[in-house]
Amino acid sequence: MSQKVIGLIGGMSWESSAEYYRIINERVRDRLGALHSARCLMWSFDFAEVEALQHAGRWDDATALMIEAARRLERGGADFVLICTNTMHRMADAVQAAIVCPLLHIADPTAARIRAAGLRRVGLLGTAFTMEQAFYKGRLAERYGLEVLVPDAADRALVHRVIYEELVQGRVVPASREAYRAVIARLVARGAEAVILGCTEIMLLVRPEDSKVPLFDTTAIHAEAAVELALG
Ligand code: GLU
Repeated sequence: MSQKVIGLIGGMSWESSAEYYRIINERVRDRLGALHSARCLMWSFDFAEVEALQHAGRWDDATALMIEAARRLERGGADFVLICTNTMHRMADAVQAAIVCPLLHIADPTAARIRAAGLRRVGLLGTAFTMEQAFYKGRLAERYGLEVLVPDAADRALVHRVIYEELVQGRVVPASREAYRAVIARLVARGAEAVILGCTEIMLLVRPEDSKVPLFDTTAIHAEAAVELALG
């Protein structure tokens, strides 16, 4: 069977890109057998460059970087492209408009799984950009009819801080897992039927047993959707 070439815009952070690479190759092996692995390309950013633009609010410059990365992958032969972070889907439409091949949006397979599970009211954990701006919550609500709950301001600050000060730097801290468990529990108390791990490093910290309701891990879901698309 011929595989499509998966193009990965990674390095945001490489800690989660490594998970994408592992999951994609494992799923291809599951589907095709022992010696098979994925045909893929990755462009991996120096995350410090991206993070500086995010926190300075320089989204136009960040968009230019994402477009350049997507074009590199397309020139290199990618049949479709993934942005391996939730946050940088802020510019997903601009990236799609700049390339010919499809962009596989991280929110789409995630929302589809939530709907398939018969759930509608979801909590969302991610960077402050993802939790507070409209680009992600809006897509979930408008295209999939999901009701999205985000943590309160103090909890959002905590979730954001742990992502940038710990997880993207490869630090998995037990006290932060406890703090995330409490944030998840507060979302569940407010009526969340499920929680989206809407930052691609959160799966390094939080496991299904840390929540009373199902967790939807965007890293695994996005990687698995890529394999579905690549293998048809
Ligand atoms: N990987 C994270 C996400 O999924 C955060 C890093 C970034 O800002 O890109 O949003």
